[in-house]
Amino acid sequence: MTFNELNLSAPLLKAVSEAGYETPSPIQASAIPPVLEGRDLMGCAQTGTGKTAAFALPMLDRLSGAAPRKKGAIRALVLTPTRELALQIGESFAAYGKYLKLRSTVIFGGVGQTPQVEAIKKGVDILIACPGRLNDLIGQGYIDLANIEIFVLDEADRMLDMGFFKDVTRIIDKVKNRKNLGLFSATISQEVMTVSWMYQRDEVEITVEPKQEDRPDIDQFSITCTPLEKAETSLRLIRSQGYERVMIFCNTKHMCQRLCDEFQRAGLDCDCIHGDIRQSQREKTMQRYRDGKLAVLIATDVASRGIDVDDVDCVINYDVPEENEYYVHRIGRTGRAKKKGVAWSIVSNFPEKARLDDICKYCNFTIQPMVMDKDGNLTPEEVKAPVTPKRRFR
Ligand code: AMP
Repeated sequence: MTFNELNLSAPLLKAVSEAGYETPSPIQASAIPPVLEGRDLMGCAQTGTGKTAAFALPMLDRLSGAAPRKKGAIRALVLTPTRELALQIGESFAAYGKYLKLRSTVIFGGVGQTPQVEAIKKGVDILIACPGRLNDLIGQGYIDLANIEIFVLDEADRMLDMGFFKDVTRIIDKVKNRKNLGLFSATISQEVMTVSWMYQRDEVEITVEPKQEDRPDIDQFSITCTPLEKAETSLRLIRSQGYERVMIFCNTKHMCQRLCDEFQRAGLDCDCIHGDIRQSQREKTMQRYRDGKLAVLIATDVASRGIDVDDVDCVINYDVPEENEYYVHRIGRTGRAKKKGVAWSIVSNFPEKARLDDICKYCNFTIQPMVMDKDGNLTPEEVKAPVTPKRRFR
């Protein structure tokens, strides 16, 4: 199938071709026709499958074909869980809609609201928003959702998981005149089902499995050490293996910052992103990392969500993640674009070991335990046969 066959307008076809897309991805081929028709849609697809264009292209097409915006009316809304994702979606809309006269803007919390309010006052067709800030601005009377025709919930599972259930349903309740609602989610959780059941009618359901050849090719290893040796072990690993583009994940903001300070003191070219760092600073750090000017990026799961950086040599789980799904997201940063990637998990106590075993079982992964000597040489850990205790009879 080609983009031409999807009946998209010429300005969109031109922008898509300039973005370098030759053929629609499976989710695009299946989702674009029903969204163009104005049907409700439930799309089960992961990031990386091209789902942003799957909802952005038909949305732009419908808006550009319809009557222009009434003064002050917002016509389409994309709700997404994190600011990083919101920014990325905003960039995609700007790229796909570059030959259309439609305006879009992005709003999210953690930064001053004035520029966002100013942008809305100037008039926007498409609003890309995180639920918290959107509810704030609705409450202050800056945003009215009554004219929204097209509404998309992106990463619905994550958004509902992050405790936004009430915020999200409150927002959907306000979008009274919507013509269709699209739900995109990596997993169809109970909450996603509930939202679909409450608000969608006669929805088209699409599930896209990541193609086998598109699956990242990642060698997964673990190293066991004491909690006090974790930082030193990670540092030795990075230096001895000569990794040039590393992403390290910690479970908390506090750990992220502490590790970053410690690595910087040790002379490592690293920086971190987490919820306590200003948005503008986070963006600068991300840009340096993307441009290859920063070797090591340390992040929390939430701050790193949706970051699309190819060519990461190695992912290190400094803390074993609490959620199995986080592990999959974390290691998915490496091994992209048909290159081989490496993921390491640093394990320092029994609960972490148990978590990692659980991840292996749940995701059907094999993680090879390794031993590192003082010079950073690595050898596979010998797996000892379980000792069966001898019963002693008295
Ligand atoms: P997404 O799943 O929307 O985050 O997209 C993942 C990546 O795939 C982004 O870098 C897009 O620019 C890219 N992409 C989306 N659609 C296509 C396509 N049809 N052909 C090639 N690349 C695409």
